[in-house]
Amino acid sequence: MLEGLMQDDFPLTLQHPLERMRSCHPGAQVVTLTDSGIVRAGFGEVCERIDRLARALGSLGVEQGDRVATFAWNNQRHFELYMAVPCVGAVLHTLNIRLFAEQLTYIVNHAQDGVVFVDGSLIGILAPLAPTFESVCTYVVMGEGDLDALPNALGYEDLLARAGSDSEGPFQYPELDERQAAALCYTSGTTGNPKGVLYSHRSISLHSTAALMTDALGLSQHDRALVVVPMFHANAWGIPHGAALAGADLVLPDRFLQAEPLAKLIEAERPTIMGCVPTIFADLLRYADEHDVDISSLTNAACGGSAVPEKLMRDFEERHKVNVFQAWGMTETSPVASYSRPPETGAHDDAYWTLRAKQGKPLPWVAARLVEDDGAHTPWDGSSTGELEVRGPWVTSGYYNDESGEDRFDEGWLRTGDIASIDEHAFIQITDRAKDVIKSGGEWISSVELENELMAHPDVIEAAVIAKPDEKWAERPLCCVVMREGAAADAEGLVEHLRDRVAKWWLPDEFAFVSEVPKTSVGKFDKKILRKRLSEDALEGRVKVRA
Ligand code: ADP
Repeated sequence: MLEGLMQDDFPLTLQHPLERMRSCHPGAQVVTLTDSGIVRAGFGEVCERIDRLARALGSLGVEQGDRVATFAWNNQRHFELYMAVPCVGAVLHTLNIRLFAEQLTYIVNHAQDGVVFVDGSLIGILAPLAPTFESVCTYVVMGEGDLDALPNALGYEDLLARAGSDSEGPFQYPELDERQAAALCYTSGTTGNPKGVLYSHRSISLHSTAALMTDALGLSQHDRALVVVPMFHANAWGIPHGAALAGADLVLPDRFLQAEPLAKLIEAERPTIMGCVPTIFADLLRYADEHDVDISSLTNAACGGSAVPEKLMRDFEERHKVNVFQAWGMTETSPVASYSRPPETGAHDDAYWTLRAKQGKPLPWVAARLVEDDGAHTPWDGSSTGELEVRGPWVTSGYYNDESGEDRFDEGWLRTGDIASIDEHAFIQITDRAKDVIKSGGEWISSVELENELMAHPDVIEAAVIAKPDEKWAERPLCCVVMREGAAADAEGLVEHLRDRVAKWWLPDEFAFVSEVPKTSVGKFDKKILRKRLSEDALEGRVKVRA
């Protein structure tokens, strides 16, 4: 082999974006919404605090490879931890604040977290669990909060003040290897125990570089990114790291995630980019429809986590001049792996929207393929489906200290558990998660497509479709829907609406009119709970209908 002569040993670590924040973009801002209004800090000031935090981590005994947990909302201090912890060679472990107590205990003990940084507003949730954590020696409370509620607790600002700054000379960050672990995030454990995905400096560096591509999030120094997707879930889609690298402003809503404060924050701070799940976008749309509020600064919003209804994107564009693009990914893929940006050919016609509503092209450096049950590869014809498998430098190669996930890998490819087709433009379309597929009379019905078509009905607010056992067909779709108050349509009306839109044998023969579709800890429809209610005969509002 004739080796290239480039500086291939320049490490792709988060110390580089940290340095860029300091030297290239000291004036970029971190904006946090708090109880007492907006708090702003420039990247220059934030870097000084990150240096002090880095020094403080040393004083707490944190060493390279140690896991440092956070239990926090999206705010400036959480961002400081996002940078400081990996840059000293430790591992930032973001805990999902909405998990059940037993899952949190399992995760903290499995990760062997030594220090936990907790928002004062969340102490009430964490404190009762502290006795169950085996490895935690120190808690650091961020913002106002009762330190006495936790054993061995310190205040964040005290810690930083004591860590000093310039008088001791600039903080010397250690030299790191790009393959070194930088962050840890557990999947929400829909089957079995949650599993840890251990990101490296290299994987986060490359994934955040992808966030700057115009065919992906397109984050630049001219953007302001409103991060609604939680920083405790899958690196907040890489937006904080991407903003550090690009020099984009960060707008962080802390715990104010309802439509009203979000809409007001958008109107006041004029973010250009926002990332969040469809359920929150849907709430925001309803609010913006009903109130006089200007959210049109959002020219480049990203939505994902579950399928994004086409109507939601169209309504945002037509009524509020807001562009919402769809991304697909998983905790295991850092998470962004595909992005839907169809070519702009002028008018946004039906063909354009059909592509926009798909999950999009695999990002550069992400390889994708579809595999059938017998191992055959599915052609990219836009209709044949198979399990989506992906490979790439920001896709996990295994789970942290856990052998039980080995069946998720197929010769080095990650089996995503998503059923999809890929068309001749290389646009992926997820038709279902394997475990949500409805198998009726030997054929598959896509719950995702039925949901999208139902949510396109003006009277439907939410729709989640699950399989109902059926003697004749094995399974039939049961549509759980939330209707708008005072809605005119009933079950028959909804079937009529679907009649021209889906195959005849997909037409549901039963609905459940529910007051709300239960959500998971990250705001996705929780079909597990709906299935459980169905099996216990506890699903409300069931109505049979002749298709
Ligand atoms: P969880 O397993 O708890 O849902 P993840 O956030 O890792 O946690 O979920 C990844 C899954 O979310 C994907 O495998 C896919 O099923 C679903 N998903 C993510 N984005 C989309 C999207 N744009 N369209 C459809 N499904 C999506």
